[in-house]
Amino acid sequence: MENLMEKIVSLCKRRGFIYPGSEIYGGLANSWDYGPLGVELKNNIKQLWWKRFVQNRGDIAGIDAALIMNPKVWEASGHVATFSDPLVECKKCHERFRKDFLPLDIDKDGEVKCTNCGASGKDIFTQPRQFNLMFKTFIGPAEEEANVAYLRPETAQAMFVNFKNILDTSRKTLPFGIAQIGKAFRNEITPGNFIFRTREFEQMEIEYFIREKEWEKQFEYWQNEMREWIKELGVDIKKIHEIEILENERAHYSKRTIDFEYEFPFGQKELYGLAYRADFDLKNHFKEAPYKEEGGEAFWPHCIEPTWGVDRSVLVVLLEAYKEEQDRVVLKLPLKLAPYKAAVFPLLKNKPELVEKAREIYNDLKKDLMVAWDDRGNIGKRYYSQDEIGTPFCITIDFDTLKDDTVTVRDRDTMEQERVRVDELKNLLNGKLQ
Ligand code: ATP
Repeated sequence: MENLMEKIVSLCKRRGFIYPGSEIYGGLANSWDYGPLGVELKNNIKQLWWKRFVQNRGDIAGIDAALIMNPKVWEASGHVATFSDPLVECKKCHERFRKDFLPLDIDKDGEVKCTNCGASGKDIFTQPRQFNLMFKTFIGPAEEEANVAYLRPETAQAMFVNFKNILDTSRKTLPFGIAQIGKAFRNEITPGNFIFRTREFEQMEIEYFIREKEWEKQFEYWQNEMREWIKELGVDIKKIHEIEILENERAHYSKRTIDFEYEFPFGQKELYGLAYRADFDLKNHFKEAPYKEEGGEAFWPHCIEPTWGVDRSVLVVLLEAYKEEQDRVVLKLPLKLAPYKAAVFPLLKNKPELVEKAREIYNDLKKDLMVAWDDRGNIGKRYYSQDEIGTPFCITIDFDTLKDDTVTVRDRDTMEQERVRVDELKNLLNGKLQ
């Protein structure tokens, strides 16, 4: 299974999905750059999410807030005081670990081993100290305490601080939500496993505001919505485990949390999370109750927060889509997520009449869809190459095309080929891609 990660990382680099960050300077540990195909896959995931949870609903408003917010936001939210992980250091090799990620409990289990240098004993790690995960920076030229600012560690707080703005401009009434997709930054102690845990990543989050009395019903509703989303990504739901987080392990603001864990090749780990944050955040930010309906008393609405990591979504989609079949590697991506929807091939590249006809078809399709062009090698090699990046349809222009205006359309999954009239091609593809 570990092997599968290696294959995915290698395919991602080779085919332009994801490269190691700053590679020509020796890289920067745990930073990754999305390449031409990776950015398409990632954008397709984000668009699908935005369409599903913002555009196709009437009750969720989208925002796109600044990454650097007034530091008072992070004081009020509790992040300055408590957004930290317990850090321990191996006394021998000085590698640092997140204490709760060590395979054994160093307080209870006595003898423990450093996974980096192999040293073992009762006393090989330092006492844990709390390490704040926020990236600190300074606004303006003077690097002094008064100018400290933080890169946001989550997108959520921007939704809370804009609560009144959205209420005033969108006239929403409870229940309603605010959604955002964007970058978040955490100075993680133990990043790793490719794009699973990085110090800079993207989140898709919704803060869904409700009346307190309906929280259980809404929690269940969002739990189900998250399941449906996971299915839409083509993920085998049997590999998802919904884990109820016990009170002593929950974030201080949460009254109920469920983690959606996935069986990654490196272990069962959090993919997404769902938390009931009660009125904790709105109370922190608004001294006066911010919500009132005609004839009623003002109050602080409660909030359910479903949260999705974009990069973990990309990883899970790749892991699920990757298949090795007899003589090919194929990414069986859901059609909506595939970077290219089709590829156009002139049968022979040295026959100008074929190339010209193929260009015409390619240029026409390109107006509506992401389409690849390939005229290298034989058709078999081109199929192989497109299968590996998950292109659902390959269209070949041959000598018959010049006679009867038909092309061969080959299906990625079934590998079946059908002859289609050029003037019906768009309709056919659009129908399949629905
Ligand atoms: P973990 O327990 O894995 O550190 P978390 O519980 O701190 O995660 P949340 O604060 O709930 O994570 O963040 C919401 C989502 O953002 C997570 O479910 C995950 O998909 C994603 N995420 C969190 N941290 C990272 C990271 N360092 N790299 C990539 N994605 C992340």
